[in-house]
Amino acid sequence: MAVKLLIGTGHPIEAKIQNAREIFAQSASELRALPGVERLLYEYRQAVQQSWKAMNVHGVVTECTDCAVNDGGSCCGRGIEDKFDSVLILINLLLGCDLPDERLDPEGCWFLGEKGCLITARHVICINYMCKRLYRALDTDDIHAVQEAMGYEADLVFMLEQRLKVWLLRDSP
Ligand code: SF4
Repeated sequence: MAVKLLIGTGHPIEAKIQNAREIFAQSASELRALPGVERLLYEYRQAVQQSWKAMNVHGVVTECTDCAVNDGGSCCGRGIEDKFDSVLILINLLLGCDLPDERLDPEGCWFLGEKGCLITARHVICINYMCKRLYRALDTDDIHAVQEAMGYEADLVFMLEQRLKVWLLRDSP
């Protein structure tokens, strides 16, 4: 029997990860074979790389590292993982990510590791967030360049989520 998708975000993160793992184990090849999915996965992976490149080139990584190392800052607080649904977690599995089985930082997001985020497909909240410090530190052109790259990443993950959901929910009433 096909594994049913846990709909929505209102389940414990452990349940959503388990659900994504079961769907992946049962249906990864069928999901990859859906029209356009391999192409979207490829383009999305490229877009994520471009976002990180833009964050490096335009000063976001330097500023965030300084904030984390010298000011004890972290944007990746406990509870952000609650925004994830099973589909976004499933996309990480399709991209080959290893998901943590436990929270590594008691105050941090479930997906936060010692050196930062452990997953590729982040929530749109994580993708789009620019704090006041970044707005103060970066030139407007740098901010726009980073936002453009992030917007493309967010568009692609949205398309991927929709494509997978149509198939995963095909038998739902
Ligand atoms: S960037 Fe990663 S670790 Fe940080 S809040 Fe988002 S998913 Fe969690």
